[in-house]
Amino acid sequence: MKFDFLIVGAGFAGSVLAERIATQLGKTCLIVERRNHIGGNAYDRYDEAGVLVHNYGPHYFRTNSQRIIDYLSRFTEWHGIEYKIFSWTHGRFWQFPINLNTFEQLIGRPSTSEEMEAQLAEWRVAIDNPKNSEEVIVSQVGWKLYEMFFKNYTRKQWQRDARDLDPTVCGRIPIRTNRDDRYLSEKFQALPKNGYTAMFQKMLKHPLIEVRLNTDYREVRTQVAFRHLIFTGPIDEYYDHCFGHLPYRSLRFEPETLSQEFFQLAMQVNYPNDHDFTRIVEIKHATGQQLPSTTIVREYPENFGPGREPYYPIPAPDARALYSKYAERAASEKKISFVGRLATYRYYNMDQIVGMALAEFERLRVNLQRPESFVLSSSAA
Ligand code: FAD
Ligand code: UDP
Repeated sequence: MKFDFLIVGAGFAGSVLAERIATQLGKTCLIVERRNHIGGNAYDRYDEAGVLVHNYGPHYFRTNSQRIIDYLSRFTEWHGIEYKIFSWTHGRFWQFPINLNTFEQLIGRPSTSEEMEAQLAEWRVAIDNPKNSEEVIVSQVGWKLYEMFFKNYTRKQWQRDARDLDPTVCGRIPIRTNRDDRYLSEKFQALPKNGYTAMFQKMLKHPLIEVRLNTDYREVRTQVAFRHLIFTGPIDEYYDHCFGHLPYRSLRFEPETLSQEFFQLAMQVNYPNDHDFTRIVEIKHATGQQLPSTTIVREYPENFGPGREPYYPIPAPDARALYSKYAERAASEKKISFVGRLATYRYYNMDQIVGMALAEFERLRVNLQRPESFVLSSSAA
């Protein structure tokens, strides 16, 4: 069997590239996906109670890029939503991320942005260039709020202290002194109207794209001839861990269906200091689905190991140093593209992965105009 492109993984990275290559270049693509579905971690499905659930944790689409909205809008309409969450600690629900409402809860009376700013100026630790996730929070709000909301959540999620993680990890969470209580700040916040899986189905519906589920790259690599490989799985696995295993963090999702319309007051409640789980997600709040029952999912962080998925690369200097060895080797490959969250070992959101895939497509398009760069490359060629 001969294909122009062999693509490993049917998540955002693999699917966007297959769609572009098939429709814009008229080349054939075989996607192999070792799970039993398309969509990667963004996969959603209707459970037995008919509730649309995000199978691998909540996926809140957001972006500032009009180009990415325009691209994805070819495959879906959108359900606009402002993502809102709460945090549970010290025996009560708190407005989260930290904003003026949270501050009022803390001091027990009405306040103003000016008062909150003056108070934070007192609490803040003077650090000009935060070097880690602890510094990025204490330099904005001081120790008390850091300890209430960030310290233990981060330890639970990553099994590391915030001071051993890049500033970008906790720095993802906005801190505001106004009443904007949205979890995210990007200008476009919406979910695909009929779900992610429906969007992927449309993206991959093309006569030049073949998708084989339940198929690991290792099973097909000597059986399929291809001109170029696009690999979106873990890069250390591709190279048989030759420089050592990259660290990842895994999760266990525990769903529970309840015969009531809603379980909690928002789509997500974080538990920084109580329980072994980090959050309870009730995605029905976000999808807008109307049903008499609901499904909640508790998320338990776990070590990565056999039988577990590598959900999160670990954004920290030690992990990055190891990744750079793989990246160096990958850079010398002429007929392989490493694209996506696991192949580039980056804690990226969906829109960033779409952007990365579109950029790689442009690079491939230019390269393909050089005939010598496009020769059959598998051992079966
Ligand atoms: P993936 O979705 O991981 O796809 C890679 C695919 O490759 C997988 O399906 C895997 O099975 C397959 N594969 C790997 N190796 C092989 C092999 N050897 N053979 C065959 N197939 C293989 N992003 C947001 O924008 N908003 C959010 O709210 C958000 N929440 C998240 C919550 C959680 C719990 C997680 C884990 C991620 C979240 N993300 C979120 C990030 C989002 O999931 C990623 O940015 C995006 O899905 C990455 O796409 P990808 O194609 O790079 O990788
Ligand atoms: N975080 C925290 N407390 C919270 C929420 C987040 O300490 O209540 C930290 C934690 O380290 C987490 C990171 O901020 O891993 C990013 O949070 P986000 O909700 O963006 O994580 P994701 O949805 O990617 O798991």
